[in-house]
Amino acid sequence: MSCLQYRGNQLYIEDVSLKNVADEFGTPCYIYSRSAIEANWHTFDEAFSGIPHRICYAVKANSNIAILHLLARLNSGFDIVSMGEIDRVIAAGGDPKKIVFSGVGKKRDEIEHAIEKKIYCFNIESEPELERLQEIAARMNAAIDVAIRINPNINPHTHSHITTGLNESKFGIDITDVIPLAQKISRSGSLRLVGIASHIGSQIVQLAPFLEVVDRLLDTYQQLLKIGITLRHINIGGGLGITYHDEHPPGIREYARALQDKLRPYNIEVIIEPGRAIVGNAGILLSRIEYLKHTQHKNFAIIDAGMNDLLRPALYDAWQNILPVELHNSEVKQYDIAGPVCESADFLGKNRDLALQSGDLLAIDSSGAYGFSMSSNYNSRCRPPEILVDGSNASLIRRRETIKDLFAAEIIADLAPCD
Ligand SMILES: *Cc1c(COP(=O)(O)O)cnc(C)c1O
Repeated sequence: MSCLQYRGNQLYIEDVSLKNVADEFGTPCYIYSRSAIEANWHTFDEAFSGIPHRICYAVKANSNIAILHLLARLNSGFDIVSMGEIDRVIAAGGDPKKIVFSGVGKKRDEIEHAIEKKIYCFNIESEPELERLQEIAARMNAAIDVAIRINPNINPHTHSHITTGLNESKFGIDITDVIPLAQKISRSGSLRLVGIASHIGSQIVQLAPFLEVVDRLLDTYQQLLKIGITLRHINIGGGLGITYHDEHPPGIREYARALQDKLRPYNIEVIIEPGRAIVGNAGILLSRIEYLKHTQHKNFAIIDAGMNDLLRPALYDAWQNILPVELHNSEVKQYDIAGPVCESADFLGKNRDLALQSGDLLAIDSSGAYGFSMSSNYNSRCRPPEILVDGSNASLIRRRETIKDLFAAEIIADLAPCD
């Protein structure tokens, strides 16, 4: 569900008119709704209240520290995938003891840092990672808690780029290797196996794959019990989809109810790692039309946001709704909405029937997840500011980058003279 609504002919987010945000902060810019983010988080928390649970928000979906701070204030946990994300959570006031560390490529310094910060648990994704963790923990004289991330070979029926639980994916540990690995962890001395985890993909709109994952995890849980290993938690990952267009994902409550029914008899803590379902529909990208370009074949609205600002359409062929900020009576035409970046993948929407004039503002809806966090400086474009709306207030939570920022880290090498 969108967090936008028209009042008269003007588009609003909470009690703030998007036109006013554009006047104050310029375009393009990302805008998030505090109430939408908090409401989604609370819905998860309440929906799982029938069993012991912890919500570990997946930081990569939207990692602005002001957003993390909102969630930290709700006592959320966090799912992180890099050292940068650990430090973001800490800078935002999050509790390191509620951090789970996922990812297939944890580097030595990242592991050391996470141990120093005393995070809750490492999700192990391979045997070499297990060995590295063991070596570092022993050297640092630390006892660390780990979970095994299982690859359950379940198809989530989503885009191939965000499918992560099939045999051919790089993620997790083959289910047949879990027991020997668990035994290896038990023998290690420095590692303690406290959980099992799985995350099979993102933007999943069916319930069945989630139910299958939980079945696999519970199966494994029981196998581990049989060899004398009692776990503290089961981590069912994230991945719940949202409505961008005509998808009908299960609602948070429906999802939670179905999973809880399976988990309740085991009386074990469940970790859930939602990202998109918390922030996706709680944010938008606001952009202005620079030019309307009519060719013999197509109409283009060339806007001031591009694939560097919002990559999902170009990368995943994703459809996001595009709404005029001010409704008016010009002629409806079919447009491709394209950015200024020099490649043809640079579009935000195709074949949209809209009544447009140059200079109009457009809201690209449902941009709160994997929007700013995937943005880049491609074409030497400054990344947009981020704004958090709370009732009738709009606060800047990341300033617009400047041209200076673009090459502040670059150094012209001292070259030998050419002859
Ligand atoms: C990306 C990711 C998530 C969050 O996925 P969403 O689809 O945004 O809910 C959760 N867990 C892990 C391990 C991830 O990599």
